Order: sequence, then structure tokens, then C-alpha cells
Amino acid sequence: MTELRLHDTMAREKRVFAPADPKRVTMYVCGPTVYNRAHIGNARPAVVFDVLARLLRHVYGADSLVYARNVTDVDDKIIEAARAEGVDPSVITARYEAFYNEDMGALGVQLPNIAPHATAHVGQMVAMIARLIETGNAYEADGHVLFHVPSDPDYGALGRRDREAMIAGARVEVASYKKDPADFVLWKPSPEGVIGWDSPWGRGRPGWHIECSAMIAEHLGKTIDIHGGGLDLIFPHHENEIAQSRCAHEVAPLARYWVHNGFLSMAGSEKMSKSLGNVVLVNELLEQGHKGEVLRFALLSAHYRQPLEWSEGLVAQSKATLDRLYRAAGDGEGEADAGVLDALADDLNTPLALSRLSAIEDGAVLRASARLLGLLEEDRTAWFQGAGDARIDGLVAARTEAKARRDFAEADRIRAELAAEGVLLEDGPQGTIWRRA
Ligand code: AMP
Ligand code: ZN
Repeated sequence: MTELRLHDTMAREKRVFAPADPKRVTMYVCGPTVYNRAHIGNARPAVVFDVLARLLRHVYGADSLVYARNVTDVDDKIIEAARAEGVDPSVITARYEAFYNEDMGALGVQLPNIAPHATAHVGQMVAMIARLIETGNAYEADGHVLFHVPSDPDYGALGRRDREAMIAGARVEVASYKKDPADFVLWKPSPEGVIGWDSPWGRGRPGWHIECSAMIAEHLGKTIDIHGGGLDLIFPHHENEIAQSRCAHEVAPLARYWVHNGFLSMAGSEKMSKSLGNVVLVNELLEQGHKGEVLRFALLSAHYRQPLEWSEGLVAQSKATLDRLYRAAGDGEGEADAGVLDALADDLNTPLALSRLSAIEDGAVLRASARLLGLLEEDRTAWFQGAGDARIDGLVAARTEAKARRDFAEADRIRAELAAEGVLLEDGPQGTIWRRA
């Protein structure tokens, strides 16, 4: 069996990956808060963990992975968006969840095995919060329930920040009802007219962190193999998930491996953010005519833990490389190339895997190897010609016939006629393919 190595944020080094049960490998990745459209930075974790899921299925068997990615469908930003439109929050969340799946689907991201919704698990969250009060790790104050950070001696092990940095970094409100400024919210009251659920602490709604702890326990178990997400989630979100789960589960660790992807930035600026006005939405890129697979290739061109600088040049280069791979790809499927598999097995080294793809000569092996990365999924003709065009197909066939009867003048005339309308012909061993310039 292929030996997989993953960089574990908790251990701060690459470790050989050994699942607790190779017949049931469990992975949880924090998913979207559904109130707006995904930008290309949001797509990075979706694509990276999709490649990891494909690799795990390849190594352990298609049915051996349980991959869960949650949908955060209760949140203050959702409530605000619903208020602004004068609709129920469920209208907002249903709309943007559908957009998310559509946009990620265009990038070749397969749906996870389970997509648990926060609003469907409030009962489990309430039970976990009650348990944390019982164990002395949480307390009720002023209609809120808070996790008491000093009650957990292991708090902070993932990010290893000092206490002052954690308090500053969390930007937690130093409310008078908090016993300690680092304490974080498990439950908060909902006023009349705001989405809420009845609870032992009055009508309210959960804080953000508790949903992941409760849904992981419900669907995957107390301790999972891999927990993933963006680098920005290490603190406070994952630190808080760890504390809640450990304390509610007799110190069983939440995850055995912690995997975090780096950030995408726009060329020339520090990061992609709404306030900087440099956000590029996935659907905008698709509407500009970029193929989803080209965007996916660009997202995989850097190692997942490194920063990735997004630019038009990167997209153009990715398209050129993919075009080249499509020309070389065969129609049948072979066995995946060992070099490509080894690169991916070494902490998902996608830049090395992509460069090794380019060196594969056997078209069938190339197809199978690219599939590990979710690339070369299209038919060659469809890739170059899009929806197709019977008139152009007819002219190409007429040119092939002209060449066969050695009427090169006619063949050249057809080539020039097509070139004039932006259709380029490429003669190769598999026949002539055409594409739009
Ligand atoms: P946001 O909607 O900004 O809260 O982002 C949702 C998640 O997408 C974050 O928690 C990050 O993990 C991820 N994300 C946001 N921006 C970027 C980015 N520029 N690069 C990579 N991941 C990002
Ligand atoms: Zn989470």
C-alpha cells in the first residue's frame, strides 16, 4: 500500500499517515458559511481537500473514506443578509449553498460523503454544552453560556500562542459577564424576531465553534483521522473545537492529524478581501470564459501549505499546460503513474505531481494519473471544441479528404477559411483537432 505522509499542524512536522481503521478513514473539513458567493480564495481549501479525498479513496478504497464538510447555516452574517433582503435566513442559506455547490462543482470538487447543516444539529449542540457545564468547563452568565478557557490546561496546543496573543488575536469582547477574557461563547440569546431555539438557558442560538464539535461526534466519532481547513482557522476556531470536544469526551483527542492550507493572495496585494476590493468570484471567472479545470490547475500549481499568488498570467499558463496535456492524453485508461502517486503521497506535493504529468508519454497512463488530481476529466474533443459545431466538423472532414486526394491547394484554402473565423487546426497522430483561438 502507498505510504502517505501529511504535515500535521499539531506535531509541526510531516508524519506517516496511519488511520485508526483503514476500512473507515474519517476526515472533516470546515465548510462555508452560506451568505455570499465564493471567491477564488475560498475555493482553495475545497480543491485541496478534494484532492486529498481522491488520494485517500485511491489508497484505501473508494468506500473506505467518510469525508464530512459542514454547512454553517446559522450565523450573524446570515442573519444580517436576511434582514437586508427582508427574507427568512433559510432563503439566504439555501440560495448560497446551491451557488457554492455549483461553483465548486465547476472546479471538479466532488461532494463530500456528508454535508451536515448546523441548524439540523442544535439538539446535539445543546447536549454537548450541557455536558460541558456538568464537567465544570462551561458556565452560564447573563443568558450566555461560555467555555471557561483556564479550565482546560491543554488549551492552545495547536497554535501554541501565548495567552496575551490569544486574547488579542481572538478579538473577543471583554464582556462583564466573562470570568476570563479568553472565554468564548457556546450559546447566546436570540431576541424576538431573530432565529433561535429553546434551550435550558432560554431561547437562543449556538456560537460558531460548537457546531463542528457536535457534528463531528454525531457523524464521525469522538476522534477522527484528519481535520482540515484554512490556516486562519487554527486560532481561535480549531483551538476551540479541540477544547470543547476533549472536555466533553473524557479527553479523547478530536483529531489525529491536523491539515491546514495556506492563503491565496492577489498578485501585488497582501490578501484577497472584500475591504481591499480585490475579490475575484469563482462564478465571475467562469463567466469570463475560463474553464473550471484551468482554475483548478492554477489552484494546485502551488503546494497547499505555501501562499499562492493569483494572477491572469497564472491562469493563462495553466490553460497552456492543460491544452498540452489534453493533446497528449489518450482515450483509454491505464494505471496511474507511480511518480505522480508518490508526489501526492508526500504531503500532497501537487507542483511535483503536475510536473511529472507533463513527462508521461503513454496517453492512457496520463489520463489515469491526472484523474488523481481531478484533471483531464473531459473528452479531448469537448475540451478543445466546447459544445461542438457540425459545420466546422464538416469543413475539417472535407480538408482531410482533400489531403487524401493530394489536393493541397483545397486543403490550405479550407484551413485559411477556418483561420479567418478564429478556428485553428492541429494535425496530430490522432487525426486533426480544431479549437477556437
Ligand atoms: P470567509 O468567507 O472569508 O470567512 O472565508 C471562509 C473560509 O475560506 C476561511 O475560513 C478560509 O479558510 C478560506 N479562505 C478565505 N479567504 C481565503 C484566501 N484568500 N485563501 C485561502 N483560503 C481562504
Ligand atoms: Zn470547524
